[in-house]
Parts: sequence; C-alpha cells; structure tokens
Amino acid sequence: MRITMVGSGYVGLVSGACLADFGHVVSCIDTDVKKVEALKAGKMPIFEPGLEELVAKNVRQQRLSFSTDLASAVEGAGAVFIAVGTPSRRGDGHADLSFVYEAARAIAAGLNGFTVIVTKSTVPVGTGDEVERIIREVRPDADISVVSNPEFLREGAAIGDFKRPDRIVLGVEDKRAEVVMTEIYRPLFLNHAPFVFTSRRTSELTKYAANAFLATKITFINEIADLCEQVGANVQDVARGIGLDQRIGSKFLHAGPGYGGSCFPKDTSALIKTAQDYGSPIRIVEMVAAVNDQRKRAMARKVLTACGGSVRGKTIAILGLTFKPNTDDMRDSPAISIITALQDAGAKINVFDPEGMDQARLVLNDLTFFYDPYSCCDKADALVIVTEWDAFRALDLDRLKELLNAPIMVDLRNIYDPEEMARQNFTYSDVGRGKQT
Ligand code: NAD
Repeated sequence: MRITMVGSGYVGLVSGACLADFGHVVSCIDTDVKKVEALKAGKMPIFEPGLEELVAKNVRQQRLSFSTDLASAVEGAGAVFIAVGTPSRRGDGHADLSFVYEAARAIAAGLNGFTVIVTKSTVPVGTGDEVERIIREVRPDADISVVSNPEFLREGAAIGDFKRPDRIVLGVEDKRAEVVMTEIYRPLFLNHAPFVFTSRRTSELTKYAANAFLATKITFINEIADLCEQVGANVQDVARGIGLDQRIGSKFLHAGPGYGGSCFPKDTSALIKTAQDYGSPIRIVEMVAAVNDQRKRAMARKVLTACGGSVRGKTIAILGLTFKPNTDDMRDSPAISIITALQDAGAKINVFDPEGMDQARLVLNDLTFFYDPYSCCDKADALVIVTEWDAFRALDLDRLKELLNAPIMVDLRNIYDPEEMARQNFTYSDVGRGKQT
C-alpha cells in the first residue's frame, strides 16, 4: 500500500520507516526543509537506536522517501497518517492542535480516491471529528474515513516497540477503514499482536488514560521514596515487594527526579483540561501533575543539602541531561528544572550527556559542556547523576575522587550501591534508600 506520513519527527520517522519495512511504500513529509534535506542525505535528525540503518535499508529498497511536497504524496495514497506535534498550548495547558488542523487542511487539498486519514499524534477526544469536518469543508467531494491510531512507542526503544507492540489501538468508524488498517498492520496480525478495535473517541481517550496512569505510577513511587527517606526504609525493596504482585506489575516503579519528556507532562495537562471542560475532573491526575512539578526543584534542594547547605560559587557536574537514556530528546527533561534551580542558587554548571548536548544548548544557558564524564567532574564540588545512561553505571570511582574537589555524589537514579559508596568514602545521596545525609 502507498502510505503518506505527515510529520517526520520521533513518531513519524520511526513509524514511516517501520511501515516501509513491513513492505509498504511510504512517503515521509515534513514542513521543516532542513530536516527533509538531512533525511534525503541519509542523516538522521534525531538519535534513536537502529533508526539510521532501518531508514537506509528501506530507502535503498525504494520503499521509503522524504519530501516537503504533501499534495503529491497524498495523491493516490491508501492511507495518510498525521504524526505532527501536539505540544501544550502556551497559557492554558490544552493540547495545541494547530499543527494537526493545518496538516488536515493540506491533506484535503491533495486527496483523490478513497483515503483513510489516520491520526497518530496524541490528540484530545473529538479531534478526529474536527479533522473530518475540516477535510469535508475543504473538499466536500472527498471520499475519506478518519481513524484514530495512537502511538505507544518509547523513545530509545522505538523500533522494537513499533514492530512488537503490547497492543495496537484502532478507533475506526466504518468497515472500509477497518479493512485498510488491517492491511497496514498485517505483519502484526500474523504475529498475534493484540488489537483493540473501538470507536474513534474511545481510542483518543485510551492514549491519554495510558500516559496518565503511567505518570501516576511514577509519582506514587516517588512519594513513597520520600517517605522511605524519613522512616529509614528502602524504596527499591518496596517497589520489588509490590511489583511482584501481578495486579501491580514491576514496571514504572523506579523512584527518581520526577517524570519529564515529550509526552507525560503535556499529556497529563491536556487530559486534566479536557476532563475539566467536560465537568468531570480527574483529580488524581491533577494531583500527580502538581506533585511532579514540585519534585524537580526539590531534587535541586537535595544537591544543596549534599553540598552542606549552599552551592553559591561552587561548580556542580551534571551527568545526563535527556529525560531518559538512549534519546537526544530534552523536551521537559527534569534536568532543565534541576539545573535552573542550581543556577538560581549560585552554582556554576558543568554538563555531559552522550546524545543530548545539542538539544540542551537550545533550552539551557550558561552551561560548560564536556565530552566525557571525567573531564566534566574535574575540579567540580559535587557530581549529580540525572539520567541513567549505561555509560554512567560503572564510573571509575577512584578516578572521580581524584578529580572532584570533594567526593560528593547525588545519584538521582539510584544506580550506585549506597554501601559500596560509603566504603569508597563518598558522601553519597540517592532517592528513597534510607535516611539521607
Ligand atoms: P516531533 O516534534 O518530533 O515531530 C513532529 C514533526 O511534525 C516535526 O518534524 C514538524 O516539523 C512536523 N510538522 C509540523 N507541522 C507539519 C505539517 N503541517 N506538515 C508536515 N509536517 C509537519 O514530535 P513527536 O515526538 O514525533 O510527536 C508527534 C506526536 O506523537 C505527538 O502528538 C506526540 O504526543 C505523539 N507521541 C510521541 C511519542 C514520543 O515518544 N515522542 C510517543 C507517542 C506519541
């Protein structure tokens, strides 16, 4: 099938490349000329493990191409996916749907023959209705069906998630669209991946419910971690003790600096707003968002405490900037609030991140960048691990002690063993593993 992917970011590019790998002929479109030129030259605009090879293979086999010309790509396509961004709208926290609606208008112009329009972007309930209305307004003659197919992939593991998903949710309103969607995902049907066919509105809400639930789980264990610090308990053992209960599950029970990233903060916010608009507030998610918001600056206070109450004039080495490992994505990363709070308190900041430094330059000021963990720590007064990149899991502690002005480590991801750190004479603090120094 010929497929058009509108938006070639983290979701559009990965989905487009994977659908091409399934055997479809995919045209990935973006309004960002630089991004498209880079892709045409074989350069990935984002860091995602395995993506460069997958793209190169499918381009070579002539199933994947890139363009800014939406109208010609839509002509003759069996399905057009909308995978543009839906960031928080400045001012009120609703999802900003302007990119989605702009894409819908542009798609309408190029339509001919029966076409399924698939919303892959995360969009509030009712957006599919509006996409359909816009297309019918621009092209009353168009033969279309609008489907909701939210994406659940995780950055850093995106290709595996797309090809071996826990489930595929499809909000379809008619049989013709169901046939097309079944054809698109045929390899996953053959692999017995679970499909949830439902209404468009239910599908749209399912995505927000999933992200809000995961954000709640993280925030829950983070608050348990705070209590652990007060009562001298160990949150990792609590997490294991509850996570082995299959009704709870062990995933997303890692205490840390609070959730961030391109999805959870904006999606919890959009869900809160939708629920309020419909007079059915989801208070538990409102509380989760508020607690998580405060947590990031609270992590900076942890660093202040570890440094004896003040960081004024001190240099703090930050290892890890992205919101999680194996991505270059800095959107809403906890590192942003933590670093800003430390700067507000008078600290100078050294940073190193394996992939996130180019993006960090765009969102943070006055950082000193280093290209390995050790030079980042040279003559720093404390070391803070913010993101659990594998490269930080087995640092040479003797070397660090020699480089740091004082052997202080604040481990916001609990990747070191407190007893081992004590033996190594580090002043070590973590998240929720007993009383903090
Ligand atoms: P992104 O910002 O990386 O990519 C969006 C792309 O769309 C950009 O390259 C932008 O230039 C392009 N674009 C904007 N308007 C356009 C238009 N009219 N025509 C063509 N291209 C246009 O965003 P993303 O992270 O890929 O997220 C896309 C959507 O998927 C969002 O709704 C997000 O919530 C959802 N989602 C993201 C993830 C994730 O991990 N990033 C996971 C699941 C769902």
